[in-house]
Amino acid sequence: MRILCTNDDGVLSEGLAALERVAARFGEVVTVAPDRERSGVSHAITLHRPLRLRPIEARGEARERFAVDGTPCDCVWMGMNHVRAEAPPAVVLSGINLGANLGHDILYSGTVSGAMEGALKGLPAMAVSVLGGRRYPFGAIEEVLDDLVGRLIASPPPRGTLLNVNFPPAKQAIRGVRVTTPGLRYYSQEVVERSDPRGHNYVWIGGGTVTTEDIPGSDCNAVAEGYVSVTPIRLSLADEAATAAMAPLWNRESEKPR
Ligand code: MN
Repeated sequence: MRILCTNDDGVLSEGLAALERVAARFGEVVTVAPDRERSGVSHAITLHRPLRLRPIEARGEARERFAVDGTPCDCVWMGMNHVRAEAPPAVVLSGINLGANLGHDILYSGTVSGAMEGALKGLPAMAVSVLGGRRYPFGAIEEVLDDLVGRLIASPPPRGTLLNVNFPPAKQAIRGVRVTTPGLRYYSQEVVERSDPRGHNYVWIGGGTVTTEDIPGSDCNAVAEGYVSVTPIRLSLADEAATAAMAPLWNRESEKPR
């Protein structure tokens, strides 16, 4: 079985190497990842310029790696339809992201979108993130991740559903695994304005503090309590309740159809 790995932190990320190590226990790993940091690009796709695909030396390892000067979505597209197109992947894994992808992070995350692109094509797919930055001890979570990837392959979620996995901070002992719903996190809306060395002003967003709502059963609560959070996410954005409620009020027939 062929497993496609990608991420949004870039092909050199240690998190990606950790993901590849786990994936290699289940099948033949092909990695197609952005050639640089592309965190926060969500599901962007590159349509108006060419893409470059560059093989990366794997130093004797039994896996193939490619860097693309595009987004995680571009990478999965390449990985499914171009790289070794004669034997496309059966599973898509994205990560391991250095930093949480909880609650509304899902909407901005390139990591989640990498998995989402796989789910969009009907494959079992999982996005993996850790609450921590560089020097996260990935070795300590490989056993749990191994178990989760095994479950994804053995009993995949329904077609069109992907799994968003978040590991608690490294200093916390893992208490177990919880299946969760996306919680609510709020980033401070602060815009920092500074001056660059040439005297021109620049602004920076997305810094500052993050506050989390206390919602039992949510991904935020699970990781705060020391659990690995596994959140099934559907591709469908339909709001069935609003559709049913609005239809009698909004539906109408044109008097003179044009
Ligand atoms: Mn990232």
